[in-house]
Amino acid sequence: MNAVLTESEVVRFDRERRVEREAHKLEKRLCRLMGEAVGDYNMIVQGDKVMVCLSGGKDSYALLDILLKLKQRAPADFELVAVNLDQKQPGFPEHVLPDYLARIGVPFHIENQDTYSVVKDKIPDGKTMCSLCSRLRRGILYRVADELGATKIALGHHRDDILQTFFLNMFFGGKLKAMAPKLVSDDGRHMVIRPLAYVAEQDLVRWAAHRQFPVIPCTLCGSQENLQRKQVAAMLQEWERKHPGRIDTMFTALQNIVPSHLADGTQYDFKGLTVTGVADNEGDKAFDAPEWPAAAALPSLQVIRI
Ligand code: SF4
Repeated sequence: MNAVLTESEVVRFDRERRVEREAHKLEKRLCRLMGEAVGDYNMIVQGDKVMVCLSGGKDSYALLDILLKLKQRAPADFELVAVNLDQKQPGFPEHVLPDYLARIGVPFHIENQDTYSVVKDKIPDGKTMCSLCSRLRRGILYRVADELGATKIALGHHRDDILQTFFLNMFFGGKLKAMAPKLVSDDGRHMVIRPLAYVAEQDLVRWAAHRQFPVIPCTLCGSQENLQRKQVAAMLQEWERKHPGRIDTMFTALQNIVPSHLADGTQYDFKGLTVTGVADNEGDKAFDAPEWPAAAALPSLQVIRI
């Protein structure tokens, strides 16, 4: 018997198909961008054991989720182990992550360490706790990586985190420095990777909603959100709103530095420069104003995201 759909059923069916198509496109984009970042920086190789740091926030859930998809199709065979550090913040729902990880069948380790009390004890009320808290967390995660035999530590920082860090360092630290997609840890003993380095935060927000990750609020410690980071994030979003594609362009710039056109004598030997007599298009153009492509020709989200 041929069922005839009512008008409202047709509308609902169309909407569901559209949502499904959008989710499929988003999944493809996330996998492609992670695959590119992993490849460009040689983040994961055959036989790696990747420790995926899960905080319970949307970014780390997405990191694990997309890494699992990548693992299925990557030429290299590697292992994943999820790790959460339960810092014993009041109200932390300690069953959420183990339940989720058991349900999706990922090997995991929950490290219970009451850093919350240590930080509360050491830092006077009203002062920011983040720097001590992060230092303690970092040390614990390095130890856990050793105990688990992890060869890589994967963190959920994304493209927008990296750019925000770049501007924070420039505005408040007087340095051109961001957060690397891959870097050896400060103790010199671990390889830290950021497979979401090319991914826009907005895509992670949408993916978390689509996948219905059981996100744990990040305000449990009671610390104020980093005001400077919030301001920089708002500034970047405002630029992006006025000039779509600007964030992608700025990220591209991080991969395209020209030390001879900056002013750091440790990165370029200005003192030892000699005239070569050979024309060089990258040489100084003296009085010529720099030229840029017309705004419309700049890389846009549409160009970069297929
Ligand atoms: S926001 Fe809270 S949990 Fe995060 S680093 Fe700061 S003190 Fe630690």
